[in-house]
Amino acid sequence: MYAIDDQLIDRARVGDDYLQPLLAAFHRSPRRRPRCLCSASETGGVDMYVARIGGRYVLKRMPGTGPHHAPACSSYTPPAELTGLAALLGTAIREQPSTGLTRLTLSFPLTRNSSRRRSESTDLAPDSGSADVDGNRLTLRALLHFLWDEAGFVRWVPAMAGRRNWPAIRRHILLATQTKTTRSRELPELLWLPEPFTLAQKADIAARRTAAFAPLLGPGKHRELMLALGEVKDIAPARFGRHKLLIKHAPDCPFMIEPDTLTHLRRTFATELALRQGIPDSKLIALLTFGVTAAGVAIADRIALMSVSTDWIPFESVFEHTLISALVGHGRRFTKSLRYNQPVTSPLASLVLTDTDPPTACYLTTGATSGPPALTDANLPLKQWIWNTSVDPIPAIPTTVSHTRRTGPARTPSPRENAQEAPDQAPTQEAPPCPTPSPHPTDHSTNTPCTRISANTTS
Ligand SMILES: [Zn+2]
Repeated sequence: MYAIDDQLIDRARVGDDYLQPLLAAFHRSPRRRPRCLCSASETGGVDMYVARIGGRYVLKRMPGTGPHHAPACSSYTPPAELTGLAALLGTAIREQPSTGLTRLTLSFPLTRNSSRRRSESTDLAPDSGSADVDGNRLTLRALLHFLWDEAGFVRWVPAMAGRRNWPAIRRHILLATQTKTTRSRELPELLWLPEPFTLAQKADIAARRTAAFAPLLGPGKHRELMLALGEVKDIAPARFGRHKLLIKHAPDCPFMIEPDTLTHLRRTFATELALRQGIPDSKLIALLTFGVTAAGVAIADRIALMSVSTDWIPFESVFEHTLISALVGHGRRFTKSLRYNQPVTSPLASLVLTDTDPPTACYLTTGATSGPPALTDANLPLKQWIWNTSVDPIPAIPTTVSHTRRTGPARTPSPRENAQEAPDQAPTQEAPPCPTPSPHPTDHSTNTPCTRISANTTS
């Protein structure tokens, strides 16, 4: 439910014919704020703003207000301090509600001097988010996390099960880029994602890809680069000492990898490569910068990797995969935290359960990492759940509460949710018993003490 001027708008009952002119008027007067009524507040809701994306007017949350929405609201986000995002907001990521644009500052180049030797360049600066990276710029990995976050694939509700696939991932990431810009170019101009492959469309798809890559073929020593994002099919030996990165849905478009790039990739993303080998149903997502030679060969310049589960939820260890699998299997709701530029030693929340009251920040610690930081904002209550994976079996996972009891009637699809999360409206149902996950993906024998949980799927 929204308050727009003096009207109460139930998004589920109001069509675009009525809503779009209303939002257009707000877009022309950016100082006026629609409000989301998902949670009670002294000001009567949480301020929103109107952005124009793909020719449509859409409601977006104001920067920094995600935690003030009710956990069941699609505009809810956990406090940025629980993720790697906080360190980048206002510096590498500047949201501008007055224009609806988000300006990104990148730490990696989008041109390449063809005469430069990589070993002499700064290209080998890690994209792994090591502690010495510039906090005011997005590494390639941080940009991948940002896109995944903005496209809404960090948020999980049970009704999403079985509904995520490459066409949906591609569509929502492209939507997420619509309002993003870098210092030199608009992000939609820079980013290529393979079209879903069909044999019947093979020639047309290849022709569109050639057209998309055409700007990279200009003359001169400084080659323009683009970004490509896709699911890794394989990294395989090619002829003459090179390797090639094969992306699913683009089998006829290998990205050649120079030996030093491969060495860097194996060193920086050894964990992700090992997880893909060790967890058969996981996937490996790559974001790379690449150029195209005058002969039309695509050459990878830098590559960042991210592990995702079979449901396309990011994870960074076997333990985290075990926790996520258990939560998905037992119909829980949560938002995954992403690391962005932060090193693995930073005590970030793994995920936040949004079906507990209050939400629960879940931390996975080891003997080598410090415990979670103290929560600083008393107005944003959070419980903590900590699993020391080096010594303890998984503790009992907090049980759920009904969202209908806490959040009232409000629930309004975000722009990305309109298409992505329609199945979120699942009927109320009795949830299965509390998870009894194992710390090992193939071992489900560990019993976890828990109580039966209640329904949580209405919103
Ligand atoms: Zn809300």
